[in-house]
Amino acid sequence: MVLLAVFVWTSRHRRISVDSGTRQVMGTLARIEVVASDRTKAVSAIQEAFDIIARLESLMSDYDPNSQLSYVNDRAFLETVPVDDSVFDVLAAAKEYSRLSEGAFDITIGPVVQLWRQSRKTGLAPSPDALAVAKAAVGWQDLILDPENKTVRFAKQGMRLDLGGIAKGYAVDQAIESLRQSGLLGGLVDIGGNIRTFGTPARNAPHWQIGLQDPRDEQSLLMVLILDDKAVATSGDYRRFAVIDGQRFSHIINPQTAQSAQALSSVTIIAPTAMQADALSTIVTILEEAKGLALIDSDEGIEAVIVKEGKLIKSRNVEKYLKTR
Ligand code: AMP
Ligand code: MG
Repeated sequence: MVLLAVFVWTSRHRRISVDSGTRQVMGTLARIEVVASDRTKAVSAIQEAFDIIARLESLMSDYDPNSQLSYVNDRAFLETVPVDDSVFDVLAAAKEYSRLSEGAFDITIGPVVQLWRQSRKTGLAPSPDALAVAKAAVGWQDLILDPENKTVRFAKQGMRLDLGGIAKGYAVDQAIESLRQSGLLGGLVDIGGNIRTFGTPARNAPHWQIGLQDPRDEQSLLMVLILDDKAVATSGDYRRFAVIDGQRFSHIINPQTAQSAQALSSVTIIAPTAMQADALSTIVTILEEAKGLALIDSDEGIEAVIVKEGKLIKSRNVEKYLKTR
């Protein structure tokens, strides 16, 4: 009798954790972990979420000459270009972040990013002349968005958009939304360190836990975060440094100087959504710790962990996310 009761309870409350393993998307590695009442449901929900990510990549990649973003980059100075709702949402959010950060975040940084990408291959810094020409085409105020018709226009010639600082976060949020819609009990989506969780943690753990890698030592963890129904992102990625003329350069550019932002080793942001965490990690890398932390501390729901010259700098309430052992 007792045994039977236990069986009924477990079958009603059966929880299966399924891990997708890593897959190559958006120029990086992604992983989805879900908790569901049955395996078939879990596997098809994971596939649906990856399909959404692949669709967003095909719209927003600036590497893919056939993406909608590449079409916008080629045409938007010549004509008004209608875009997919998701692309419009990201462009509108990016402009908000430009306003909030007083121009530190700027998706029109494309021409400057392209020059630095070439440098990464050649090992030589771009010439000041080339940088000046590229910088002249940058300016988020000249990106004209029409929310009614969902169209984009460039008011400056040579403008090119680069969504590398925000699109992964947006894709994580959309994938999480899709997992929720599939009726799963819980899940985690990670696209290149842009992570968000919801609901029941995997493998019967009491919480979703995320280990933060030490930027100078991949083998060790700086700390473990308890991250239920929250997002986290890290910028200033040590794996994406390039050595140019013997100096280290990051892939994040300060639009004011057209030079790479390299004062901070890494910036981790905890936020309600992955897009917020993604954009803000890029922003704080550029603003550096004083201005960056002032911005983070002005928002209740957002926290930061910065590594600078081997030292840890934390925002006001980060402790509430730390796992205490
Ligand atoms: P993340 O890894 O999220 O910090 O994003 C870095 C990427 O954002 C770069 O590889 C560029 O594609 C893009 N990016 C670089 N500088 C900026 C900037 N100032 N504002 C917005 N996006 C940027
Ligand atoms: Mg970012």
